[in-house]
Amino acid sequence: MNLESLLERVDVVLITDRPTYRWLTGFSGEEGVLVVGQGFKRLLVDSRFTEQARLEVAGAEVVEYKPPITDYLKAEKLLQGRFGVNGRSVTYKLAKDLMDGGVELIDLSEEILHLRSVKCEEEITNLRKAIEIAESAFLKALTLLKPGITEKDFAAELEYQARKLGSEGMAFDTIVASGWRGALPHGVASDKKIELGELVVVDWGCVWKGYHSDLTRTVAVGQIGADEMSHLRNVLEAHERAANAITFSFGSDLDKIARDYLAEKGLADYFGHGLGHGIGLEIHEYPVISQRVQHELRGGQVFTIEPGIYFPGRYGIRIEDDYLYEGTGLLRLSRLEQLIMV
Ligand code: ZN
Ligand code: ZN
Repeated sequence: MNLESLLERVDVVLITDRPTYRWLTGFSGEEGVLVVGQGFKRLLVDSRFTEQARLEVAGAEVVEYKPPITDYLKAEKLLQGRFGVNGRSVTYKLAKDLMDGGVELIDLSEEILHLRSVKCEEEITNLRKAIEIAESAFLKALTLLKPGITEKDFAAELEYQARKLGSEGMAFDTIVASGWRGALPHGVASDKKIELGELVVVDWGCVWKGYHSDLTRTVAVGQIGADEMSHLRNVLEAHERAANAITFSFGSDLDKIARDYLAEKGLADYFGHGLGHGIGLEIHEYPVISQRVQHELRGGQVFTIEPGIYFPGRYGIRIEDDYLYEGTGLLRLSRLEQLIMV
């Protein structure tokens, strides 16, 4: 991975957040500090993580140290000059200690997130595997998605299957939102029982080698109403139009394609969130696919497309898949059928 562009602006890059040091070194432990300067790249860990770091890290020197980091930097005569940090994750305490020590801090979080958004082959392979596990787990759990089961029980089955298939955990709290609860875009599974004739929004993801997948299906349980059916098809069409777009440069262009279609159908007011987001070592990464953000799309980015419409007190619909932008068009990485009736 390439840090050179970051080092152009600062003397030292100091990384304390797990996704970013994992991306740069392969170290998956919970705590570490990556310090990179001209001619050196060191991952500092305390004694709990030394062995693990030596096994996992490639391309950086592993150094065991005793926190706090400022003592180490001082002893190494590094506590000076301009430090580039991920301003979104560095703590107030660390920032203050560094500045008190005489360091000038430069926030590189935007640059870091843009660099991380473009995936290499190995990262794409890991994302594909995270998606594959999520899909298989869903299909295995689906046999239990019947009237009478609670949302929580279905979520538990889905998570159990995901674990059995090798997922390192869930990418986020599984959403199972049936009937009126579907109108809560982030309605995590509750004790509500799923009933005949309801739409059930299931939004889940798995983790493979630190990489997160993110999928949503809106399952029709038995016969659903005519409105529900036509809205389900509208959301699917909005999704497909964005996914099959050929002329676009920014994430906001894709958002507009889906939003314009829903507006044509009189549904724009019910689509309250952005169209999608990047996925990777975190569940929400760059690029942001939204009308509010101008992120230019670049080949190698992997992101979701997830239009959704929500009718408070009635139901909600969202269909989410994961795509690789190949520089010309989008390649759908997920294969699960988009309309599911049980
Ligand atoms: Zn999702
Ligand atoms: Zn998502």
